[in-house]
Amino acid sequence: MSQPDVIVVGGGLVGAACAQQLAIRQISVRILESGSEEGVASAAAAGMLAPLAESAPENPLLSLSVRGRDLYHELAPALKEETGIDIGLWNEGILQLALSTGEAARLTHEIAWQRQRGFKLDWLSPDDLHDRYPGLTPEAVGGKLAPEDGGLEPEALLKAFLASAKRHGAELSRGVRVEEVVVENSTAVGVKADGKTISAGAVVLAAGAWSGGIGGLPRPLSVEPIRGQMLAVNWPADEPRAIVYAQSGYVMYRNGEALAGTTMEYAGFDAVSTIEGIERVQEIMGTIYPALAGAETKRRWAGLRPGSPDGNPFVGQDADVEALWYATGHGRNGVLLAGITGEIIAQLFVGAPIEYDIAPIDPRRFWQITRR
Ligand SMILES: Cc1cc2nc3c(=O)[nH]c(=O)nc-3n(C[C@H](O)[C@H](O)[C@H](O)COP(=O)(O)OP(=O)(O)OC[C@H]3O[C@@H](n4cnc5c(N)ncnc54)[C@H](O)[C@@H]3O)c2cc1C
Repeated sequence: MSQPDVIVVGGGLVGAACAQQLAIRQISVRILESGSEEGVASAAAAGMLAPLAESAPENPLLSLSVRGRDLYHELAPALKEETGIDIGLWNEGILQLALSTGEAARLTHEIAWQRQRGFKLDWLSPDDLHDRYPGLTPEAVGGKLAPEDGGLEPEALLKAFLASAKRHGAELSRGVRVEEVVVENSTAVGVKADGKTISAGAVVLAAGAWSGGIGGLPRPLSVEPIRGQMLAVNWPADEPRAIVYAQSGYVMYRNGEALAGTTMEYAGFDAVSTIEGIERVQEIMGTIYPALAGAETKRRWAGLRPGSPDGNPFVGQDADVEALWYATGHGRNGVLLAGITGEIIAQLFVGAPIEYDIAPIDPRRFWQITRR
């Protein structure tokens, strides 16, 4: 490919979604993916689409997150038809379990607020819980059900985004570790990798937890790695598939397994799973489904979420440098938000109007604006 319109730095879910949406709009794209980072978040993710469990009612990102979830209902069949890849979308609800009356009060308060904002939620009594999820702990005093939330398979989604991007002309270069963004006359003109400049009309920074370490940026980008540990065991026999949160952890059905997570740790770029972390996750899993207490762990792993100062991603253009774009900092919800991030970046790039509020993710919210 001769000089592309856009270089996307990072081929995780967010970079792949941006590349796909740009390529669909006839913009030439080259993705540069180092392929050598330990703890890539997209490979570690559970795959939940949980806007209503993950956002406090007053969170300004809530509406955008629900929109991000619903976008997969369009993307799933379109990607299947185009690439043949099924992203495993399902939406049978996500349950947040109350294990005390205090928790029940907090969750019913959340239901009231989220319903008021127009979203569907139900309160399940202990009897409802038993009928619907017979294997759940009998200690539960109730549960908040977001009936339209669900999940997908992150690995399949990544493959599908990349396959679709390539079909629309995007190029993926693996083994290229970007060192810095090259800026001339206040405009991004490419990147430097292995000491050589690769030119492009614009640069989209989508390097996950590593984004802040890339040189040449006009100001520090506060994206920090937040480690999450997970494990997989066999799904309890005869139990209907489900996604259940309790005590800051969760258990999710995926492909016949129960994936349990997770921790939120500031441990730098050390992407190992630890005995303490896994014991904590096992404890949460056994609390939610007593049949899983002591279950044999089939796999355990850790990944690095790209955390931002306010928990919301950076999606959009730099305040001062032309042609420099950010699509990073998605923290706990980068699977949920990958699709909509790609859509927003591509629409902003071509100057198409966006009909919903993207102020909560505008990178300029943190920075003094010197140019509009
Ligand atoms: C344990 C765990 C569970 C999670 N579960 C969920 C969930 O259920 N639902 C949800 O919505 N979100 C979940 N997340 C969060 C989600 O995984 C992330 O927010 C999302 O994957 C971030 O995608 P990304 O593309 O920005 O980053 P990444 O997936 O980390 O991708 C960044 C890419 O950039 C590449 N790269 C880095 N530096 C360079 C460089 N210098 N040059 C070139 N390439 C580079 C890396 O190799 C990598 O491929 C989870 C995260 C973890 C860790």
